[in-house]
Amino acid sequence: MTDWIAEERRYLFQNYGRQPVVIERGQGTRAWDTDGNEYLDFVGGIAVNVLGHSHPSVVRAIAEQAERVIHTSNLFYSIPMIQLARELVQRSGLDRAFFCNSGAEAVEAAIKLARRWGHDRRAGAFEIITTVDGFHGRTMGSLSATGTTRYREPFEPLVPGFRIVPWSDLDAVRSATSDRTVAVMVEPIQGEGGVNLPAPGYLAGLRAWCDERGLLLILDEVQTGIGRTGTLFAFEQEGVKPDIMALAKGLAGGVPIGAILAREEVAAHFVKGDHGSTFGGNPLAAAAALATLREVTAPGFLERVNEASRRLVERLQAIEDRHGLVTGIRGRGMLLAMGLARDCSADVVDEARRRGLLINNVRPNAVRLMPPLTVTDDEIERACDILEAAIVAVESQGSK
Ligand SMILES: *Cc1c(COP(=O)(O)O)cnc(C)c1O
Repeated sequence: MTDWIAEERRYLFQNYGRQPVVIERGQGTRAWDTDGNEYLDFVGGIAVNVLGHSHPSVVRAIAEQAERVIHTSNLFYSIPMIQLARELVQRSGLDRAFFCNSGAEAVEAAIKLARRWGHDRRAGAFEIITTVDGFHGRTMGSLSATGTTRYREPFEPLVPGFRIVPWSDLDAVRSATSDRTVAVMVEPIQGEGGVNLPAPGYLAGLRAWCDERGLLLILDEVQTGIGRTGTLFAFEQEGVKPDIMALAKGLAGGVPIGAILAREEVAAHFVKGDHGSTFGGNPLAAAAALATLREVTAPGFLERVNEASRRLVERLQAIEDRHGLVTGIRGRGMLLAMGLARDCSADVVDEARRRGLLINNVRPNAVRLMPPLTVTDDEIERACDILEAAIVAVESQGSK
């Protein structure tokens, strides 16, 4: 039998720290590796598989669209992209959509749009305020907006024009604002940074500050969007509306896609020739996104997600109560993290995997859970049993 892990070591760039599992097949929350082991997948492709693996609606939409037309380019009109834009505009309350293929690309588009707007409307203001531990992607622009030194340093000099201030600190944003400032860009909840919720009122405070100073509020909902936090977009729970929103990850249920949505007054500043993407709005990805949105916005779907989230949080809190190693449960909806008293998250991930549960060590002292929004009560029970057993195993190993 082929040793795929050895083949990967031989042929791919070694830029990822992968868990030693070759996933061959998935169905809903379950995934199977090449050794025939079954897992509960609480990573979900990093908050991508909102409907789990190979959801029948997404599979059917892809198959039907593939028969019709897969790719056209933006030299022509195509139907799924237009339907998807209409759907996202109507559901977000923003006015226009632009499509690309990933989160980083969506952030790049948002940065360019903000700069274009600043060029036209704010006497060339270009600076964007972002936050420590904020994550926006790995391309040069999105990396320059990302507030994690170890991602940034090896690639300096980065793109100028970003001011990185402490997370959830309104005063820091206020004092970083100058005549050069054009926008503030944050995630509603920091995902890669460790599932960090802002203080209550932070986003509303940013909105008020942006309004007062005539700045754009850019929300990076690449991870929090598409039902992940219990509403279609996380901003709905904060009583704010962004001027620009970036989407990707869950939008097409596993097919690569990215998007920005913006208010008319902002979107109008991208004129013909300003920006583009060969694959952007690709019919296959757009059809998958339409199918995904149809499921996530179906009556009762998000109510059930919130019920399931409450059940999962309760179970995780019960684990916290019983084990000193666990120092807190944080997050919202199906974007949750368990804090740990020491830097042993990689050990917890290993022990969980050996017992059939896939999770992610988002920080050295925190594991992240991002199950599909379709996760069943029974799967939640089993996953928490496994997670508790993993915690017990790591506790008994003691400090290393
Ligand atoms: C994952 C992520 C990105 C980058 O998305 P890619 O598709 O990996 O380029 C950007 N912003 C946020 C908030 C993310 O979670």
